[in-house]
Amino acid sequence: MKKRCTLFTWRSKFPVGIALVFLFGLLPASVFAQEAKVSPARLEAMKKELITEIDKQQKLTQEMVDMIFSFGELGFQEEETSRYLTDILKKNGFAIEKGIAGIPTAWTAKWGSGKPVIAIGSDVDGIPKASQKPGVAYHDPLVEGAPGHGEGHNAGQALNVTAVLALKKLMEKEKLPGTLVLWPGVAEELVATKAYFIRDGYFKNIDACIFTHVGNNLGVSYGDAGNNGLVSVEFTFDGQAAHGAGAPWRGKSALDAVELMNIGWNYHREHMEPTQRSHYVVTDGGDQPNVVPSKAAVWYYFRERTYPKIKTMYEDALKIAEGAALMTGTKMSYRVLGSAWPGHFNQPIAEAMYDNMKVVGLPQWSAQDQALARAAQKETNAPKTDRENKPIDGLAMKLDSIEPGVKFSMGGGSDDIADIAWSVPTVVLRFPSNIPGLPGHHWANAISMATPIAHKGVTAGAKAEAMTMLDMIVKPEIIKNAWTYFNDVQTKDIKYTPLISKTDKPAIHLNKEIMAQYRPTMKKYYYNPAKYKTYLEQLGIQYPTLPDESKTKAQNSGQ
Ligand SMILES: [Zn+2]
Repeated sequence: MKKRCTLFTWRSKFPVGIALVFLFGLLPASVFAQEAKVSPARLEAMKKELITEIDKQQKLTQEMVDMIFSFGELGFQEEETSRYLTDILKKNGFAIEKGIAGIPTAWTAKWGSGKPVIAIGSDVDGIPKASQKPGVAYHDPLVEGAPGHGEGHNAGQALNVTAVLALKKLMEKEKLPGTLVLWPGVAEELVATKAYFIRDGYFKNIDACIFTHVGNNLGVSYGDAGNNGLVSVEFTFDGQAAHGAGAPWRGKSALDAVELMNIGWNYHREHMEPTQRSHYVVTDGGDQPNVVPSKAAVWYYFRERTYPKIKTMYEDALKIAEGAALMTGTKMSYRVLGSAWPGHFNQPIAEAMYDNMKVVGLPQWSAQDQALARAAQKETNAPKTDRENKPIDGLAMKLDSIEPGVKFSMGGGSDDIADIAWSVPTVVLRFPSNIPGLPGHHWANAISMATPIAHKGVTAGAKAEAMTMLDMIVKPEIIKNAWTYFNDVQTKDIKYTPLISKTDKPAIHLNKEIMAQYRPTMKKYYYNPAKYKTYLEQLGIQYPTLPDESKTKAQNSGQ
């Protein structure tokens, strides 16, 4: 009965034409009840077992969160993270396939048999220069200049593994059918792998996908996510070297071409729609001033709200790059390094998940958790309210509402999970392991990520995820409805066309040099759970360490 009511309310917000495709929503609830493999009371009892099991696994959850945090690896170089996770999954009976889609750090881990086939993913890569001691509310890097988890991508896989191990135990006991496929979002910060997973057929036989991402609250949304898609392109210019003082007239500067391209693009910006976001870094600006740079390169992200608009940006950029080459007598070449579609997520799965989130609720934050959060907010000049005008003060205390898709958006970030979401019904489960109001892609976003805040947030998220997967297994109508939404609403007028070509290759060379530079020092800080209960304990960090206390400490010790 409940499902019927939900659909009815939802339908009333949409035109009759769309409503017709949901006619099954008017069928008596008993039709669905016959399909269900277990009674509602039995299902509830099984969900309670999942909750108990996930609570029992809190030690393993904490270890996984802390361990991946300590690896702090950048995109495409997640070697330790991949080895660690696949080892755990292998030990637990999962069949591992490594190096999928030509990406050394990508893998799948499969267990179970039959339908439904559920894919469970989360990102694993870090942020450059975001090294930070956890539990410390001011900038205090573990290794100066090194990467770190300034986006919180250390927590999602811990959540997925926790949820899946609890569910597997239950499925074995209850002899439930179903196949679980875990996979990592490698190099998400470069939006550089998920379109390849799709292109190379890794989601062909998947019935539904649950993706998890760290957030400030426990939540899920559906419909148009309101964010931007993007194409990430590196432009390389080839010129002619010459003595910078002795014979500059013989040189053709590739750096000049990069600068002219950037100037051209920045003028072009004035005539673009305000939903666009574009940004660049110069990846090669030459070697030294007295040598006319024979090679230079600039790397752009071009972001917009729709596929056609992203394509237009891309084409405009190519013309500007060609113009810069013409002006400088250099040769231009380019390479796609990543891509993402704008997000759109599945309503029936999101609704089933949100029902479970209401049961789980937010974690109980301690006074220490809140003190750390407030100090970090103060330290980073966090705004007093979020974009929806809700106050920002410490950690979330009220469960997020379920968010329907946006009708209007000014654009924003991107995530290549969208390429999967345009291929298979997908939702993103957000879990409360981060501190609200922080800048994002920043050392401050790492502060909470190996502390009780992250551990508790992951446990809460794992419960909601495991319960939703169980729902999908015992209530086949969820996946049926998910595909009806996918076919008749989401992809009715918009068809997925990848932004990568059939021949583009994953940019697995990225971040190699940075990791080679920092990994030897970072290794000294890898978490050792055999010796220390938590990573905080290993680092000797008092939880929480607040700015004023440290100043007092410094003064007391005469520094
Ligand atoms: Zn992310």
